Amino acid sequence: MARYREAKCRLCRREGTKLFLKGDRCFRDTCAVEKRPFPPGQHGKNYRPKTVGYGIQLREKQKVKRIYRMLETQFANCFDTADKMKGITGETLLMLLERRLDNVVFRLGFATSRDLARQLVTHGHVLVNGRKVDIASAQTSTGDVVSLKDKIKKNQQVLDSVATIGGRGGVPAWLELDAEGLKGTVISLPKREDIQMPIDEQLIVELYSK
Ligand code: SF4
Repeated sequence: MARYREAKCRLCRREGTKLFLKGDRCFRDTCAVEKRPFPPGQHGKNYRPKTVGYGIQLREKQKVKRIYRMLETQFANCFDTADKMKGITGETLLMLLERRLDNVVFRLGFATSRDLARQLVTHGHVLVNGRKVDIASAQTSTGDVVSLKDKIKKNQQVLDSVATIGGRGGVPAWLELDAEGLKGTVISLPKREDIQMPIDEQLIVELYSK
């Protein structure tokens, strides 16, 4: 599966905000956005772009795409799906992104980043309602129980990640975590207010409406 392989911190610096792509490091003062708060590259420090109109919309789309670790086509397909559904397209898009299995695994704290969460899923360590699901983009629904296979439950990285979920913002209200049993339940569908990241989804709708 194709994926972005370049330095993650460059993405945050390009967007000028923390995208939380590196787990615990993002919460330390070694975070690159805090140490070097200017765009990456040779001229980054002196580069003062005047972003207007299309540029603002593009940057917002790139930001959200990068937060959820998606490629261009995957993201555009997700937008198409949201556009065909009832409701406010921008909010529906974010809800579809939140309900992705890799995001749920991340939000439950089984992994410190969405990349690691995706790895858990694609390597077949994640069960949904007791059955293995290795498709990261699979949509979860209310009542779904997401758990880990017994073998990975002893993994120290997973145990440490669950133990420190509070320091990374905790588990959102639409999920319920059983930290002892290493399983979580989708108790309701996510709402707009469950997403704390500074995102203006309307800009993405405007971009794709051109
Ligand atoms: Fe982004 Fe995390 Fe790197 Fe900071 S440490 S720049 S938040 S990926």
